Amino acid sequence: MSDPTRPKAPKIIAVANQKGGVGKTTTAINLGAALAAEGKAVLIVDLDPQGNASTGLGVEAADRKKTTYDLLLDDAPLRDVVLATDVDNLLIAPSTTDLSSADIELVANERRSHLLHDALRQPEIDRYSLDYILIDCPPSLNLLTVNAMIAADSVLVPLQSEFYALEGLSQLMLTLREVRETANPKLRIEGVVLTMYDTRNNLSQQVDDDAREALGDLVFQTRIPRNVRVSEAPSFAMPVLDYDPSSKGSIAYRDLAKELLGRPAQ
Ligand code: ADP
Ligand code: MG
Repeated sequence: MSDPTRPKAPKIIAVANQKGGVGKTTTAINLGAALAAEGKAVLIVDLDPQGNASTGLGVEAADRKKTTYDLLLDDAPLRDVVLATDVDNLLIAPSTTDLSSADIELVANERRSHLLHDALRQPEIDRYSLDYILIDCPPSLNLLTVNAMIAADSVLVPLQSEFYALEGLSQLMLTLREVRETANPKLRIEGVVLTMYDTRNNLSQQVDDDAREALGDLVFQTRIPRNVRVSEAPSFAMPVLDYDPSSKGSIAYRDLAKELLGRPAQ
């Protein structure tokens, strides 16, 4: 029988798209902050060796003593890796460039695709009473992204409102299907969110129309506008929700969090 005192498992969402610069990290940070503002306990797992999510949330390089590299390759306990941020309810497992060698170092490891899955199911995960874990994936469909998809309940895909945006999606969907058929049959698509949306730009409108025609309800109603405050916030080491709460970007990410929370559980 399940133990009623045991907290329920957090929902794990991989933020993925193999294209760089489409808004993965920005979405992980700001959706995470917006969910935290709704009272949810959120952990962001930085799975990109570039460590932009860690930097964007103010984790100094000197404070990244144990990182997601240690979590995956060294069985480090979560308590050694997980750090608080300046945002209430928002934690981060930071990364460093060490993580870029993971693919090669793990070649001979039979569980190499399941390491994040296993790490996030350490019994001590319960001590954080998390509601959500958002995994910020690297811009590639490599072993790290596959680890994220195997660890996750769902995948959230930021789609930049630009030419060719949809073409990259078919590759991502193929990987997703492969993961579903082999290691994680329950993996769902959380949704596709249009990022850097510009209402004055016909191309943005076109990508929006095409995405909704191809993907229907999988596309979030909320679109994230191109907004300079969003791009400025990381250099002040904070989510845009704290940097400029009334900016269009903040409002959009809060709407996205509400839309996500308001969807029927699946
Ligand atoms: P990825 O993680 O997919 O590589 P990022 O989230 O780092 O992409 O975003 C790429 C760049 O675009 C960053 O400089 C970021 O600040 C900027 N950016 C992302 N979203 C927005 C937005 N809504 N408005 C303006 N700039 C944005
Ligand atoms: Mg990124």
